[in-house]
Amino acid sequence: MRTYKYKIKNIPTSELEKLNSDSASVWNECLKLKDVWDYAHGYSYTSKECELWLDKQLAKSQQLHSQSIQDIRQRYFKGWQGFFGLRKNGDKKSKPPHKQKRYTTTTWKKSAIQYKDGMLRLSNGKDNKPLSIPLPVNVDIDKISVIHLVFNNGQYELHFVYKTEDVEQIGSDDIMSVDIGEIHPMVCHDGVDTTLFNGRYIRSLYRLRNKVIASFQERISKCVRGSKRFKTLVKRKWKKIRTIDNQINDCLHKHTTTFAKLCSQKNMGVIVLGDLSNIRDSVDYGKKSNQKIHQWAFDKITNLITYKAKRLGIKVKLINESYTSQTCPKCMNRKKVSGREYKCKCGFTYHRDGIGAINIYKKYQGCFINPVVGPMAVPFGIRLDVPKLPCKHKECS
Ligand SMILES: [Zn+2]
Repeated sequence: MRTYKYKIKNIPTSELEKLNSDSASVWNECLKLKDVWDYAHGYSYTSKECELWLDKQLAKSQQLHSQSIQDIRQRYFKGWQGFFGLRKNGDKKSKPPHKQKRYTTTTWKKSAIQYKDGMLRLSNGKDNKPLSIPLPVNVDIDKISVIHLVFNNGQYELHFVYKTEDVEQIGSDDIMSVDIGEIHPMVCHDGVDTTLFNGRYIRSLYRLRNKVIASFQERISKCVRGSKRFKTLVKRKWKKIRTIDNQINDCLHKHTTTFAKLCSQKNMGVIVLGDLSNIRDSVDYGKKSNQKIHQWAFDKITNLITYKAKRLGIKVKLINESYTSQTCPKCMNRKKVSGREYKCKCGFTYHRDGIGAINIYKKYQGCFINPVVGPMAVPFGIRLDVPKLPCKHKECS
């Protein structure tokens, strides 16, 4: 599956807002109906019966296309499934879906999508006007599986999700492990060589992003909420953030493409990623905003690697990465790392950022306890071509 993003231009925002608000109303109704169901049955559980009953009730009260309504109901129950899964694994903090929404993504499935004379017509049920837009040039109508209406960074976008052809799998069993981190967005290891992807420029963009948010927030907080000044500032803030996010995105794309090419050159059959779903508990970033952006980058890198690898016929596997950055690959001693070099009391030393990737490699092979033998190759660094800003000194120019 791939997604093509299309920025909507010719339709008033209020119309799009109404759709996602209607979708939120479906979601909120799900919350309410589930309570009714639970009350009638005495305890909280979900079943096929419960889902069918909800669908029936929603069809009576809600607008939008019936498939769009069903999609939100499915999302709601996915939330429940996730909750049960986490509970089973001993997570006591997790909650089932319980928050009311003001807006949420609207989805059109195949039966709601019509195409005539270059125009796409997205049906929104009997009482609502259908959404009518020209078909973007890059989109093949026959391959579309669903379309999402997404509010992304202050503006509405249509996300066309379409199927891609299956690629023949690479037969080799060679493994490339990847450690996704803060200092280096990616460090990979193939059993012999370690490659570091430099993250300095990306980190500077993160800092700039936080700075922009902080400075705008200060100015916005002085305005009356909803005033004209308030609105312009919010708009300008999003515009700036969008630009920075695009730059970060671009960097992540370049790095992951280089990485995918490297794997392909070396004829790797499997890419192993550390599973990052627990990262939120284990890392203390201090500030909430920092955490959010890092989390976002983690997910983004994982997604980019996954789809780029699949396109090349390389399998992607996730494994639990706990302790991989602290354990000595030679003697299994665990220690907190400080400084640039990882130095173990057994005499093993290596660049600290390579440790995680080496251990993920070993862990996937099932020989986490086997010591590495012999000297390791010195890690190789890959940098991005960073746009050079003109110097501000008069003498320099
Ligand atoms: Zn050691």
